[in-house]
Amino acid sequence: MTSPLRIGISANFFHPDPARPVYKGKTLLYAEESLLHWIGRSRAVPLLIPRLTGFVKTRDIVSNLDGVIFSGGADISPHSYGEEPLRKEWAGDYDRDQYEMDLFHEALDAGKPILGICRGHQMINVALGGTMYQDTATQKDGAHIHRNWEIYDELKHEIAIVPHSILSGIFPGRDKGLVNSIHHQAIKDIGKSLIVQATSIPDNVIESVWLDLPSQYVLGVQWHPEWQRDVEMMNSDYILQHFLTAVRTSS
Ligand code: MN
Repeated sequence: MTSPLRIGISANFFHPDPARPVYKGKTLLYAEESLLHWIGRSRAVPLLIPRLTGFVKTRDIVSNLDGVIFSGGADISPHSYGEEPLRKEWAGDYDRDQYEMDLFHEALDAGKPILGICRGHQMINVALGGTMYQDTATQKDGAHIHRNWEIYDELKHEIAIVPHSILSGIFPGRDKGLVNSIHHQAIKDIGKSLIVQATSIPDNVIESVWLDLPSQYVLGVQWHPEWQRDVEMMNSDYILQHFLTAVRTSS
């Protein structure tokens, strides 16, 4: 029997908070559980990737993984793409950006398949030199609502899938789909060698990207496939199986 695939998950950070009732003043790394379960249901092992300094290099961690998923969470810091935050609540998480960009480049160098979810999709763009709308609703003309705190992952919109794209190969015969939407940042200028795979209808927000480099698998989706159970929505398992097939082939 072959051993299960090892899928690294980039961590979310709780930065030191003197008001927190546990681990006062300490840094915590965490993952959202349904992402872990989504991977586990396909018999792959999700592993939270620590931020280590000194003894073990990111490269050593990556060499022990078969693929890497960049998870959702806090905003990208505008400082990571050369801007000042327009509002202090849009300042994002610069420390996490640094940790993930290092991880991204090591995973890319090692040829590990990469999947980016929501923030992860944005992080791929910024790691490759792209920029973001700090707030889609106020900065992108004609943008519809892409996040509603009250209904959270119940908010959905349609996307147009680019014909003959990698994403269209994952969903054969479809030129549209319904996805959840829990983001207020969005890709503005696209990063180097990235190709748009899908845009929102009707407001043309970039909702999926693919890195056009030979022998690399880097896919970003602006939605959260791990939370899509609604039968109307694009089947999240198609994306995971496509990713895991690439992982199996490359490992
Ligand atoms: Mn959206």
